[in-house]
Amino acid sequence: MAVKRVLQYGEKSLREPSKEVHKVSKKITELVHDLLETMYAKNGVGLAAPQIGVNYRVFVIDVSTNKEPLNPIVFINPKIIKKSGAVIAQEGCISFPEAYTDVKRYKNIMVKALDAKGKPFVLEANDGSLLARAIQHEYDHLDGILFIDHCVNRFETDEILAKYHLPPVEPEKLLDEPELDKELNND
Ligand code: ZN
Repeated sequence: MAVKRVLQYGEKSLREPSKEVHKVSKKITELVHDLLETMYAKNGVGLAAPQIGVNYRVFVIDVSTNKEPLNPIVFINPKIIKKSGAVIAQEGCISFPEAYTDVKRYKNIMVKALDAKGKPFVLEANDGSLLARAIQHEYDHLDGILFIDHCVNRFETDEILAKYHLPPVEPEKLLDEPELDKELNND
């Protein structure tokens, strides 16, 4: 177990798709421990394997607050099986230190995955909760998608990125999200 270096926006591995895990081997167990240790060291609510340069479909989340006991959730080979509603909320990422911007997300999701022991589970997260948004954020990392690709305002996001000496938005990566736009316009 060790605290790993977190890749920063601009580094190539963050844009690469990750591979499925075929067996929850010792190597994967170690990866999970490294992710947890690194996430806690950086005070993040989530961390995905590609962020420490390992392109496997694994991420960890802990949305407990300082007053609550730790509550890590491990996701291996996750699949989002249901999604509905839409919400705009400010998000950040350990790979983008200090930069926060408004992004579009689904309000409700259902995800299935394997836990740290390789046992399948299904988890529902609703009402645009931190957990619902964190799962979508970390899930995206496994496909090389970053939160800024969901940004509400590209130019505002560019200004924020520049302020923290990060590269600008990659226009060709910006996502077209008609389903989310429709939901947001209905509200
Ligand atoms: Zn992130």
